[in-house]
Amino acid sequence: MSLLKKYTLDGRKDPEIRDLPTDSKKDEVAREKIDELTLKNQKRIIDLQDRLYADGREGLIIVLQAMDAAGKDSTVRHVLGGINPQGVDVYSFKQPSSEELSHDFLWRANTHLPKRGKIAVFNRSYYEDVLVVQVHQLQKGYALPERIARMSPEKFFKQRYRQIRNYEEYLYENGYRLVKVFLNVSKEKQKERFLERIDLPEKNWKFSSSDLKEREHWDEYQRIYQEVISATATEENPWYVIPADHKWYARYLISEAIARTMKDMDPQYPTLPKSEAARLQECKEILLAEDD
Ligand code: ATP
Ligand code: MG
Repeated sequence: MSLLKKYTLDGRKDPEIRDLPTDSKKDEVAREKIDELTLKNQKRIIDLQDRLYADGREGLIIVLQAMDAAGKDSTVRHVLGGINPQGVDVYSFKQPSSEELSHDFLWRANTHLPKRGKIAVFNRSYYEDVLVVQVHQLQKGYALPERIARMSPEKFFKQRYRQIRNYEEYLYENGYRLVKVFLNVSKEKQKERFLERIDLPEKNWKFSSSDLKEREHWDEYQRIYQEVISATATEENPWYVIPADHKWYARYLISEAIARTMKDMDPQYPTLPKSEAARLQECKEILLAEDD
């Protein structure tokens, strides 16, 4: 059985997130071997990305969700580091601007969808609209018509889960593939990484006191992540709940999820129509006949 399988949630017999490990210990893997496999996957991804771009028929969206300090930035930098920058766009979903808030919640995701042939990394995503928004009940401050504003929060968010599921189905049916990753970090590891960010001057910029505020809501976030992931994990658009305490292991599992999805997309270099191919041969002959 592949190591990734147990972390793949596709809406069938999914485990609870709290029953999945946050580190590599249980899988009894050797770091050296795993690092080798990650390297292989990085090479596969480079090759597949080149084909995807040339093929230009399908787009890939990588959704990264996690608690703070789970390693969203560094894992993606590592896994996708070697690929042609022309083929990838990274977009970080921060607090929405007033322009963004004056549209429906999927609007900003839509404006950042990749073109066919490209990869978009969503560092956080429209999932924040059912996560942070739900934890802090931010929807209560939004300008919404009465028929929506008077709904119970439960109903409001259940409705959004359905909308997200439908949106992702729509994307799939319109030539996109999604790799949805939840970096599952433990509360202890988060503390360790926060302390490091405070202690090391070169990491200070990564820490903000508001990160501690969110940590106070840890249990609430875990509960809601569970709910959101089970409501939106499907066969076509599965979730990968990746143990994130050991970054080298998270990198491997993410690289595996991306490489597999891209292989499944099966991008092909376009073949030239016969007339064009003949024209290439003519060009070749002209070049070879040149006197230097
Ligand atoms: P880092 O790991 O570097 O801290 P980050 O993704 O946490 O990266 P920040 O700039 O610290 O980036 O935080 C962005 C913040 O924006 C997060 O707290 C996130 O919850 C918030 N955010 C994103 N989307 C929304 C949204 N739709 N509504 C409200 N807040 C949002
Ligand atoms: Mg942050």
